Amino acid sequence: MPEGDTIRRLAERISGRFLGQRVAQSFARDPRITHLDLVGSTLTDVDAVGKWWLLRFDDGRTVYGHLRMDGRFDLGRRSKAPEWQRRLELEMENGWITAIDMPNIGVVATAKEESIVGHLGPDLCSTEIPDIALIADRLRSNGDRPLAGALLDQRNVAGFGNVYAVEVPFIAGVSPHQPVDSIDDLEALVAAGSALIRTNMGRSHRNTTGRRLHTTNMWIYGRQRRPCPWCSTTLVGGAEREMPWGRVSVWCPTCQAIEPTRAVDPARIERALILHPARKLWPIEQPTT
Ligand SMILES: [Zn+2]
Repeated sequence: MPEGDTIRRLAERISGRFLGQRVAQSFARDPRITHLDLVGSTLTDVDAVGKWWLLRFDDGRTVYGHLRMDGRFDLGRRSKAPEWQRRLELEMENGWITAIDMPNIGVVATAKEESIVGHLGPDLCSTEIPDIALIADRLRSNGDRPLAGALLDQRNVAGFGNVYAVEVPFIAGVSPHQPVDSIDDLEALVAAGSALIRTNMGRSHRNTTGRRLHTTNMWIYGRQRRPCPWCSTTLVGGAEREMPWGRVSVWCPTCQAIEPTRAVDPARIERALILHPARKLWPIEQPTT
C-alpha cells in the first residue's frame, strides 16, 4: 500500500504538469461521482493529506480519493486501461488525468474538506515540520496498543504505512509489539520516522538504509527468517491474521526484545541513519524539550 511519501510525490507530479489548467472533458464512471462534471473548471491546487489525494478546483469543489491497494493514476496520454477501471478521466490542456481502480473517490465542497480528512492526525508529509511531541501524545492516547498498530492508525499520525511500521521500530530497537506507554522517549522514535519519510518523499525510491547495494533498500521489511543485519539473529515475523494490527510484520527478537519498559536507543538510530540523507533532518526534528 502506498505511504504518505508516495502520495505527496504523486500530488507534486499532478501539480507540476496540470496546475492552473482548465478541464476540457470530464468523464466520471464511479457510482459515487456519476453526477460529477468538471468541464470548464480550473485546477487550482493539488494536495496530499496523509494517504488522501485532493484536487481542488476554482468552482469551490474538491475531488478526493485514497489509493488503498490497487488505485493509481495515469498522467499524460489517454489511459489504455479498460473503461470500467477509469473511474475519473479529466482532459486538461497538457494531457489527461486518469484515476484508475480508485477504491475510494468522492467530491466535496472545498470548504468542507474537514469532513473527509479532519479526523487525521498530524501529517508527516506536509510542507510544515510536524509537531513531534503532539504526535507522541496522540500515540500514547491508547497506551496499551502495540507500537506498530499505533503508528499505522492515521488518527494518531497521518502518513506511516506498513513499511515504516516495520522499519522504524527496528531502527529504534523497540518491538512492534511493545505497548506504546511502556516506551521511553517515544519522541525520538517518531522524530526518526518523520526524518525518514520526509526525506523519502523527495526521492524516487523508498529507502530506509541509505545503502544502495542492499538487496531491498530496507533493513528488515520482507526479510523474515533471514539474519538480522545488525546481530545475525534470525528475524521472526507473522502474517496479517497473526498480528493484532492486521498487517504482516517482521522484527529481530534480540535487537527488539519486549521488556516491561523499553527505551528508544538514540545511538542505534544515529548509527542506522549514518548513511541516509535523513540524518540531516534527524537532530533538527528531534524535540527540543
Ligand atoms: Zn538484531
